Amino acid sequence: MDCLFCKIANGEIPSKKVYEDSYILAFHDINPEAKVHVLVIPKEHIPSCDFVNAGNSFNVSYIFEKIPHIAKEAGITNGYRVITNCGEDACQSVKHLHFHIIGGEKLPEHIR
Ligand code: AMP
Ligand code: ZN
Repeated sequence: MDCLFCKIANGEIPSKKVYEDSYILAFHDINPEAKVHVLVIPKEHIPSCDFVNAGNSFNVSYIFEKIPHIAKEAGITNGYRVITNCGEDACQSVKHLHFHIIGGEKLPEHIR
């Protein structure tokens, strides 16, 4: 499958890893929007929030279970924002479910 984040998940394309286990991978965004900008993905290909269902939703709860540890590993100490873009109007550019963890500095109150 021609999916950038599947290729990152299987090591075909390199990434700056923050955390990895059998289910998920966290790596630094190539184009950071803040001092710390990490992406967390399930290794399983789920195209977006629209495709989360009873059979794969454990990936989402598992990611949220690990987010505090990932944020800490990335050097975030004073809070962070978690964002996922879903579909056209949200400007989702990579069609593999991912959560942006953004922090490391004071963020604007409202983002876009
Ligand atoms: P989204 O717009 O929500 O789909 O987010 C996709 C994110 O992936 C953007 O913030 C990009 O900067 C990031 N990105 C694209 N290619 C790479 C890559 N090879 N390594 C790390 N991050 C990437
Ligand atoms: Zn994928």
